[in-house]
Amino acid sequence: MFLQSVPRTARLLRLLLPALPAAAMHRSYTLDVAAPLLRTQAFIDGRWVSAESHFPVLDPATGSELARVSDCGPAEAKQAVDAAYRAFHTWKRVTAKERSHLLRKWFDLLTEHKEDLAKLITFEAGKPLRESLGEMVYSASFLEWFSEEARRVYGDIVPSPATDRKILLLKQPVGVASIITPWNFPSAMITRKVAAALAAGCTVVVKPAEDTPLSALALAELSQQAGIPPGVFNVVPCSRAQTPSVGEVLCSDPLVAKISFTGSTATGKVLLKMAASTVKKASMELGGHAPFIVFDSADMDVAVAAAMNSKFRNSGQTCVCSNRFLVQSGVHDLFVDRLSKAMGAELRLGHGSEAATTQGPLINSRAADKVALQISEAVSQGARVVRGGRRLDGSFVEPTLLTQVTPSMLCMKEETFGPLVPILRFDSEDEAVAIANACDVGLAGYFFSQDPSQIWRVAEALEVGMVGVNEGLLSTPEGAFGGVKQSGLGVEGSKYGIHEYLQHKYMCFGGLKA
Ligand code: ADP
Repeated sequence: MFLQSVPRTARLLRLLLPALPAAAMHRSYTLDVAAPLLRTQAFIDGRWVSAESHFPVLDPATGSELARVSDCGPAEAKQAVDAAYRAFHTWKRVTAKERSHLLRKWFDLLTEHKEDLAKLITFEAGKPLRESLGEMVYSASFLEWFSEEARRVYGDIVPSPATDRKILLLKQPVGVASIITPWNFPSAMITRKVAAALAAGCTVVVKPAEDTPLSALALAELSQQAGIPPGVFNVVPCSRAQTPSVGEVLCSDPLVAKISFTGSTATGKVLLKMAASTVKKASMELGGHAPFIVFDSADMDVAVAAAMNSKFRNSGQTCVCSNRFLVQSGVHDLFVDRLSKAMGAELRLGHGSEAATTQGPLINSRAADKVALQISEAVSQGARVVRGGRRLDGSFVEPTLLTQVTPSMLCMKEETFGPLVPILRFDSEDEAVAIANACDVGLAGYFFSQDPSQIWRVAEALEVGMVGVNEGLLSTPEGAFGGVKQSGLGVEGSKYGIHEYLQHKYMCFGGLKA
């Protein structure tokens, strides 16, 4: 289907490119991790609970079944919400120091088991093992960071306008938080939310993505080993079919005070609507469409290395991945040439568990179809394939570099979530900023320049929540992760992340005698 929609010249060009092996599809790979970390039941109120039916978890590189996991429905979701609500009344009274110690123990256990936890990520999400290890370090870092932040939730004492009154602002945990997470960071997207929630004194019910429940359940096992009390951290895995009914409980049950979601903008809007029925507090980390702008003054080594990191991490499946490459005329040809060479030299497709692999499969064939459509649509509108271009067996897609791209092409209008670099040539700074801002989302943005005035102008002008200036990798627990426009609400990480799980209580202490 993909080749049929590509013009004849592009098809001929395709034949000249070296064939890439999709050998991973035809070999068998064994997930070999310590037995206690391979959990398949739901984790509710400190107990492992079986649901009536089960759903398969597949290795996206081979399509083979890794495990069958309990398929929770609304009944299990309600059970988990009730457990979290009961636990909240005791957990909120545990001292901040004790909560900090428990989060620290959980951090130590993640660090101790990071190799096995990384294998789980690689097998269920397809991520190259080196990157999965990186995710585990990142995932654990949120437990460490918020174990420290737990002890620094300060209120305010405010000068009063009356001599017989004192004004205090207390910060208190909001209550039960429903946490709904995606498959692209099966571990880190959970800890980034849960560590902040538990540090604040909230309890949680986690619904992991249907493609990647194993990492979430391994976190539950380690939470128990760390001594997190029953009901504080609950996990209800479910299939795609059960997701809407489980989601409805998690987003509309009156005992839930807060929802925190990472995923697509479309799903975020559905969840926000459900949460509106009982006026819940909401944090949303939604889709991006990151511009990557290379100005004439850029350091080419820095820009090319950053493009490789920012585009090809997790095969292009991160919400902060560069999506639209805008390159100024003076350096356009040089950047294209250097990036194409780097792609040829550094990128290797294969099963994530093989040491040489840098590019795993996309999460499923729907994801690969979407990227293939963006490539074929761009080519049919006049884009030139400089490298790659093919959709391979299973859900593998060749890392692809396109030039002569225009703003009207699909790849410049929609988030790709795959290994595609579409390059648009521009002449002026104003033109680049206008193209970058002409969209309804704004998560991350990157630009490359050695001109300090231009750096300030562009950093301030880009309509995004996070800017990488001469840098393609931003994520760290110390930074505030979040977007503007339809990319979301609130931030995760940093000293502000914990505030998403706190509310102010204004206490007016009256009748005081001088
Ligand atoms: P994708 O299309 O990549 O699966 P989504 O944004 O739909 O991205 O998925 C992110 C998370 O949101 C997953 O855990 C998914 O199961 C969940 N999700 C999707 N639809 C709903 C829903 N109606 N209620 C609750 N969770 C949902």
